[in-house]
Amino acid sequence: MRRAVVLFDLDETLIHDRASTAASFAAVAAAHGLDGAALQATMRAAAFPLWRDGPAAAYCEAIGISWWEGLAGPFGPSPVAELAALHAWIPRFRAAAWSAALAALHTAASPVDLEAAFTADRLRRNVPYADAAATLERLRAAGHRLGVVTNGAPDYQRLKLDGSGLRPWFDAVVVSGEVGVGKPDPRILRVALDRLGCAPDQAAMVGDNPARDVAGARAAGILAVLVDRGEPGGGADAVVRQLSEIPGLVA
Ligand SMILES: [Mg+2]
Repeated sequence: MRRAVVLFDLDETLIHDRASTAASFAAVAAAHGLDGAALQATMRAAAFPLWRDGPAAAYCEAIGISWWEGLAGPFGPSPVAELAALHAWIPRFRAAAWSAALAALHTAASPVDLEAAFTADRLRRNVPYADAAATLERLRAAGHRLGVVTNGAPDYQRLKLDGSGLRPWFDAVVVSGEVGVGKPDPRILRVALDRLGCAPDQAAMVGDNPARDVAGARAAGILAVLVDRGEPGGGADAVVRQLSEIPGLVA
């Protein structure tokens, strides 16, 4: 099933998200005599309700911005009203979340210090999956054109991709926060296809999330390839365990 264009999701498809977030919690916890897993769990309990009730919660759900991304990412000024609201609110969100989490842990550690340490650490961890670069290289060598279609905030998704070192392989990068719709809405995939001059039946979409990547690809008429990172759900046209299986699949 030759496909001229291969589109990729970013988080948990090309780069680690869960493991990097856990590693950042572990690193800042260790520096302050705390347990990383306990800090992360306590932070989730503190931050998620704030995030869920925040000023752009519905937008973040639709566009795909998570509470842990809210703790770390850059959310710069934006003409988009919801992103502007996030930009204004994020400092208060982080301060409240770190204060609540550290109070719950009965530690005297400074919320200001941990917030700064966590943000700096997490922004540095944009670690690709071990077979990502070699897979992209093989696809390019075989003549495929490549795109990233990622849900999230524009500044942060582009920082992650640049930080991962994977950006040079891609002909197009489409971020939900830049186009106003997120996967599984097929319109974001059509934006990518338009930029690459490709028909749906000549493209494949590779992602880890059945509800967003697989459902979106199928709605757009694109071959849906699930890279199995443990997310429940089905419906994919093909399932792989490793990115290195992709070149053979679309050859
Ligand atoms: Mg993903």
